[in-house]
Amino acid sequence: MIDFLNEAPYSSFTKTFFETADFLDFSLNLHNQRPDFFVDLNPLIASPWKLNSFFPQCSSENTVEMIDLGMLRISGRPPKTGERGLQVVLSVGLHGNETAPIEIVRDIVAQVLLGKTKVAGEVLIFFGHLEAMVMKKRQIEENLNRCFGIEENVLSRVRSQEQGRANRLKLALKNYRNPNLPLLHLDLHTAIRDSLYPRFAVLPQKKSEQDYTHAFLRCLERMGLQAFLMSDGATTTFSHYTSALYSGLSATVELGAVREFGKNNHQDFLQARHELIRLLETNCLPNDSLPVDVLFFDVIRTLKRKGENFKFLFSEDLPNFSKFKAETPIMEDDGRVFRIHSDDERIVFPNSKVGIGERAGLIVSPRKRPH
Ligand SMILES: [Zn+2]
Repeated sequence: MIDFLNEAPYSSFTKTFFETADFLDFSLNLHNQRPDFFVDLNPLIASPWKLNSFFPQCSSENTVEMIDLGMLRISGRPPKTGERGLQVVLSVGLHGNETAPIEIVRDIVAQVLLGKTKVAGEVLIFFGHLEAMVMKKRQIEENLNRCFGIEENVLSRVRSQEQGRANRLKLALKNYRNPNLPLLHLDLHTAIRDSLYPRFAVLPQKKSEQDYTHAFLRCLERMGLQAFLMSDGATTTFSHYTSALYSGLSATVELGAVREFGKNNHQDFLQARHELIRLLETNCLPNDSLPVDVLFFDVIRTLKRKGENFKFLFSEDLPNFSKFKAETPIMEDDGRVFRIHSDDERIVFPNSKVGIGERAGLIVSPRKRPH
């Protein structure tokens, strides 16, 4: 155990953690008391903190270790003969106010620590932006989910709180990536904007369509997703990072609407919760092939803000996946007007408040399922 956790004021919330198994609450308390502690030399990196002795109900098959603030590694039984096995990475709360996935994963961690769920294989759990969660905000200085450039060194000078946190997440992956197992990374979010399809995934660009395996798409479909966006190029999102650097089966998953902590209707997220638990308990992707009514879209253009005078020519509260007629003007950027090319095209993530050079939205067009 880290020594100072035995002392006031840490001892009271550490004791509460051992009773409730609420790792998120513990991490937020630790962050509030000592936000600086983990910035420089982190004792956990040299020696992760094994939690099992404090949670006697936790299955003897599972080893649960805190590897950094808000980050856990859970090791379960190795793959059986004939199983490929997976290293599963679940990240939540990269945007601090997107509470539903944070609550789901917090509950799953508690179930593991209290012995109600037994995990197979290897799992990394990342609670993303702790400071933004405390502040009940999406972000503090910049968008954490745009801080995962693959070329940036994890020890490079930190330009923002978010980049510092992204570096810690990258470092945890570097230290705990098991190269013998395929990586499956689900980065779970919820959205502020209404959406014609509230539950959807953004899939990072792959070298070939075959890289989006049927079993991976089925896993996402079983979470209740209604649509998939296939990206058209490199980005600086967390899921693109794990896809590009670790050949991960990775996705940014939007599970529904943003609500405050405690205000989520858990019925809305049941399918996602069940599939995540199934994935952790079996360490296998599903092999069923039930026909489902899921839509696939290609990202065909990324709208980037180029100038000072930038605006959309539609209402800013337009839902994601809204359609326009061909030739409809949708955006004005320093006097240049951009139009929709065809009747099939839809807009996703429109945001005129981005900085110059940043993404202001995506234009997507329907396509066939890859398999
Ligand atoms: Zn988000």
